[in-house]
Amino acid sequence: MTAGPETVVRILVVEDEPGIARSLEILFSTEGLQPTVVGSGEAALACWSRHDLMLLDLMLPGIGGLEVLRQVRSADALFPVIIVSARSSEEDVIEGLTLGSDDYVTKPFSIRELMLRVRRTLARRALTQVDSHRPARVDEVVQIGDRFRVNFTESRAFTTQGERPLTTQEVAVLRYLTARAGQVCSRADLLQDVWGLHGRIETRTVDNFMVRFRKYFEANPRRPRHFLTLRGRGYMYSPG
Ligand code: CA
Repeated sequence: MTAGPETVVRILVVEDEPGIARSLEILFSTEGLQPTVVGSGEAALACWSRHDLMLLDLMLPGIGGLEVLRQVRSADALFPVIIVSARSSEEDVIEGLTLGSDDYVTKPFSIRELMLRVRRTLARRALTQVDSHRPARVDEVVQIGDRFRVNFTESRAFTTQGERPLTTQEVAVLRYLTARAGQVCSRADLLQDVWGLHGRIETRTVDNFMVRFRKYFEANPRRPRHFLTLRGRGYMYSPG
């Protein structure tokens, strides 16, 4: 497989209406993004963290869209979510935005407008910030211990569970930490430098990334050697 210079962007489309789901799938594929379509809130909650952005319908069978958003937000304050819904009353829009969706598109929507909003959300949340904060020089492949490594060029990792793709945010956090091996990075540093967020933000986002990285790269995630949390001080990556 050859990898282009740009990172693959994985879009999760949560939509139970097959016609709309199919047209979104075609749209994103045509635009060079990598869409996954799921038709229920349960399926969305099972796989959202492996994506870079979620398009979320509100009226779904079983767990509804707003509950999906609530659960995603409690795990990750920053994961990009755009609600796409026929519910267009002011109250619905406000509730969605209050729960922390990045944007709200009402059905029926214009394809061009939707695409513009997706691009804008991605740019705001991760891609442009990652590039502008990228350290001057980072090896494109970083070895973690004897067995694991990250290939930044291809956004892939060799992990405890074999080879797997990484999301844009995973790449950004890994880049940041591995470029500062042996240094303590505070939560505020990470939120500011990786996501461009300032001020005091209560979020488990960074901790959740650390949990994920331990699952990927630690022989024993309960006794981490590489991705360390230093209580009250922050996080540290140790290559050894
Ligand atoms: Ca629906």
